[in-house]
Amino acid sequence: MPVTLLDVNAQNHPLTDKLREAFDRVLASGQFIMGPDVLAFEQECSSMLGVKHAITCSSGTDALVMALMALGIGPGDEVILPTFTFFATAGSVARTGATPVFVDVCPICFNIDAEKAAAKITPRTKAIMPVHLFGQSADMDAIQVLADKHQLFVIEDCAQAIGSLYKGKPCGTIGHYGAYSFFPSKNLGGFGDGGLLVTNDDALAEKARMMRNHGMQPKYFHSVVGGNFRMDTLQAALLRVKLAEYDSYTAGRQRNAAYYTEKLSLLPGIVVADPAHCQCAARQSDWIAETAAKIILPVPYAHNHHIWNQYTLRVIGEGRRDSLKAHLQTKGIGCEVYYPLTMDQQECFAPLPESSRSNCQIAHRLATEVLSIPIYAELTKQQLDEVITAIADFMEKGFAIP
Ligand SMILES: *Cc1c(COP(=O)(O)O)cnc(C)c1O
Repeated sequence: MPVTLLDVNAQNHPLTDKLREAFDRVLASGQFIMGPDVLAFEQECSSMLGVKHAITCSSGTDALVMALMALGIGPGDEVILPTFTFFATAGSVARTGATPVFVDVCPICFNIDAEKAAAKITPRTKAIMPVHLFGQSADMDAIQVLADKHQLFVIEDCAQAIGSLYKGKPCGTIGHYGAYSFFPSKNLGGFGDGGLLVTNDDALAEKARMMRNHGMQPKYFHSVVGGNFRMDTLQAALLRVKLAEYDSYTAGRQRNAAYYTEKLSLLPGIVVADPAHCQCAARQSDWIAETAAKIILPVPYAHNHHIWNQYTLRVIGEGRRDSLKAHLQTKGIGCEVYYPLTMDQQECFAPLPESSRSNCQIAHRLATEVLSIPIYAELTKQQLDEVITAIADFMEKGFAIP
């Protein structure tokens, strides 16, 4: 039986009756823009995340753009972000006219390396955007130290990490702003595009709300230029149905991740990542040699509550990742490379100054090694076993399938 990388229907179809009810409610109300469900959904998000202001918007990308616009970031400013991320983090910075400055990442948690970030701060640096990649928090204490020292704004890209915790605190509520996405493949997947921006700061919330609606306050008076970044009432109404189920989605992903780690780590050549070997690239290579690791399994740091947007393997050895990918595909198992190219390697950023793109070696290596396997909550034990068996088969054949 094929196992797809994601199956949104397995999560949504059991909710059909409730989703229809929500649709009917909005249809009957006729309030398609900023209707009551938008406010209700914002209140429910703010209570779930323990944050004062939750501002819905049109996408995760637009949440980032709104945050940058609200902070007045633009031409002449530099914004620091990890080079190993989805394009939206970098693209939103570039679209404001500011310069994205790319920083290497930690090979254990895949998130921005705060020490390397420190080395790229200049007098023009205005903000730092940690990304909580694959559902695990970045090193927020270290980022906070940098931000305080250099007076930087912190915008957390939580598109893959809604409900994830850092030392008990929800990701997205630690910096000035946190941006989330409801793209269907995210942990709280909607029915089209949608996003959320949160903050505990009243003034920043007010600015973001203005940016969401053409900078308009009061009606037809514009003191700043904003955009149309609103979430549809329909989307909010449908997302409310799923938010009520959210804890069970996270529990399912965590259960699946634990099962993979338990079973896969029994196979020769497969080793769980060791958080003690995080920061230093040289020690990383030693560790990989010592353990003879062929595949490295992902691990959460002890202080992180990981929500597993992705379960991402590192496949060691030139060409091996692509062989495993091809092998899984012939077995009907969905998998994907997040991401094959880092931001500093993107053609559109080639004109950036060398200092924006330098010193990203670990990320370059990860881009050749990573492979994400199915982790969605509704996977059955039989499906998980199928994935594990296919990987075991690849290992048994001497890791040498062409
Ligand atoms: C998905 C994603 C975004 C963008 O979210 P959209 O809702 O698709 O616009 C931004 N950053 C990261 C890291 C993402 O994974």
